Amino acid sequence: MTDLIVEARNVKKSFGSHEVLHGISLNVHRGEVVALLGPSGSGKSTFLRCINHLETIDGGVLAVDGLPVGYKMAGGKLHELSPKETAGRRRNIGMVFQRFNLFAHMTAIENISEAPIKVLKQSKGQARQKAEQLLDRVGLKAKADMYPSQLSGGQQQRVAIARALAMDPDLMLFDEPTSALDPELVGDVLAVMKELASDGMTMIVVTHEIGFAREVCDRSIFMDDGVVVEDGLPREMLVNPKHERTRDFLTKVL
Ligand code: ADP
Ligand code: MG
Repeated sequence: MTDLIVEARNVKKSFGSHEVLHGISLNVHRGEVVALLGPSGSGKSTFLRCINHLETIDGGVLAVDGLPVGYKMAGGKLHELSPKETAGRRRNIGMVFQRFNLFAHMTAIENISEAPIKVLKQSKGQARQKAEQLLDRVGLKAKADMYPSQLSGGQQQRVAIARALAMDPDLMLFDEPTSALDPELVGDVLAVMKELASDGMTMIVVTHEIGFAREVCDRSIFMDDGVVVEDGLPREMLVNPKHERTRDFLTKVL
């Protein structure tokens, strides 16, 4: 087991002829809580998707938990992981999206216990018990038997977090988890994330919530146009950005 959970060196990624990651280098250590900031289109989601084995990379090295994601070899041939390998690696990574992506035909508790039963082969009783604990942890014990359509966006997002946690991930990726929520629902979701961070979870959080980044995150990384522009302590970078581009961005989101 390595202390480096994400190791990115000069990671490049193109879609067709459009290069969207121009050489991303950054390391994330176990237990770190990292805010990933940047304007729309800068490549934040693409980078998270690479970490989660949803994309292969075209250049550089990207290792997650010490193991490389699919990459293009010299000569352009793709070194891909088998579906089984991919599934095995993704099992240790939880991802929460802007849209909650819950299964509409399953209750909250069924959403949470689905993967532990199917993938981890837990018994129904065991998975349900764990799911109940997780629902309690995200403040939704009373909503176990509700369907997503009966829950608010904020509640659905907290179920989505509980569902990701049910797999006991080593790393949690959040891609703008509060961007689709009504403002009054944002706080409850951020509170759950804050608690998760203080419990020691390794997290990479793409967010425009600068207050959260400053208060909860150990580190902030500002990306623009497919490169890392600035990487540092939130209390320094978000208060006193070194780069013009970071400053510009912050004045727009604050
Ligand atoms: P961000 O999350 O920072 O807003 P994205 O990673 O979503 O940025 O997008 C970065 C760039 O990559 C954008 O120009 C976007 O249009 C492009 N892009 C993202 N996904 C794809 C895709 N599957 N196919 C083609 N272009 C894509
Ligand atoms: Mg995005």
